Amino acid sequence: MEYDVVIIGGGPGGLTAGLYTARGDLKSLLIEKLMPGGQAATTDWIDNYPGFPEGIAGPQLMMSMKDQALRFGLELKTDEIVNIDPIEEGFIVVGQAEKYTAHAVIVASGATVAKLGVPGEESLRGKGVSYCATCDGAFFRNEELVVVGGGDAAVEEGLFLTKFAKKVHLVHRRDRLRATKAIQGRAFKNEKMDFIWNTIVEEILGDQEVEGVRLKNLKTGETRNLPCKGIFIYVGTLPNSKFLKGKVDMDEKGYILTDNNMATSLEGVFACGDVRKKALRQVVTACGEGAAAAFSAQQFVEEKKGIAYK
Ligand SMILES: Cc1cc2nc3c(=O)[nH]c(=O)nc-3n(C[C@H](O)[C@H](O)[C@H](O)COP(=O)(O)OP(=O)(O)OC[C@H]3O[C@@H](n4cnc5c(N)ncnc54)[C@H](O)[C@@H]3O)c2cc1C
Repeated sequence: MEYDVVIIGGGPGGLTAGLYTARGDLKSLLIEKLMPGGQAATTDWIDNYPGFPEGIAGPQLMMSMKDQALRFGLELKTDEIVNIDPIEEGFIVVGQAEKYTAHAVIVASGATVAKLGVPGEESLRGKGVSYCATCDGAFFRNEELVVVGGGDAAVEEGLFLTKFAKKVHLVHRRDRLRATKAIQGRAFKNEKMDFIWNTIVEEILGDQEVEGVRLKNLKTGETRNLPCKGIFIYVGTLPNSKFLKGKVDMDEKGYILTDNNMATSLEGVFACGDVRKKALRQVVTACGEGAAAAFSAQQFVEEKKGIAYK
């Protein structure tokens, strides 16, 4: 086996798992298909990760997590994992570019933002349709924007967009927000925020770029067009677990089932973070589970190698 542990995904869960396994002297490789940092690196500001009384920029927190793990010898590679094959000694982890062998695998592949699934969303992606306010917000100075969703991410990112936009119209299918009260309080106080309740986006309008959205009020059935230059979509997430279909137990949406020690149904494969079935998907929970998955993987590898575990 080339590695004791291969970790799939370089978000907060994977980087914490890597910090723990590398620091625990396991030969550890983390494979990330994009840049390390995960979803947390796409958010402007994180206010609820302990240890930062004033909050911290998402990219900065994630670069610090990466540097901390590298300090203990975690190896990083860029590749997209497409399969895991159990073999007698462990696992072959199959990437687009290479294959890797390991005694244990930690799946920390997280989640991806869900699509609205309306006309115009695909064709106008990158031309006003975005899923990342931090990445694209600054392109829309003094413009009218629409944000879709009512959870923490939608409201938090909507607030971020008010730094640039003339107005941010938050379109939500219900008559109240799901976001935590503190975030709601800031949003209701912000004069640039406008709330459009009981309403869905039926279509994103525009030829070469976004020119507006067609809205439908779910209570009255009325439709109307709202002109805007950009639409930011935060309507939930979907697990990045397709490459494990049929290999480990999942729920109907594809979230991986684990026990309290982060063990999946396939012995030697552990999972942590947003890809797991659980109630709270946050940086702090991904990190905690990353540490727990690493501990379990370490126990598994050392028992396998015949090293007495203290
Ligand atoms: C806009 C937004 C704002 C947020 N704000 C907050 C906040 O303020 N506070 C908070 O606590 N949480 C926040 N969250 C949630 C938080 O970012 C996530 O809970 C956390 O990042 C989950 O970490 P993770 O490591 O499980 O997965 P992710 O962060 O999703 O990382 C998974 C990584 O795995 C990689 N990957 C996926 N599949 C493969 C594969 N097949 N091969 C290789 N690599 C793969 C992905 O590229 C990604 O980098 C926010 C999320 C969003 C989208």
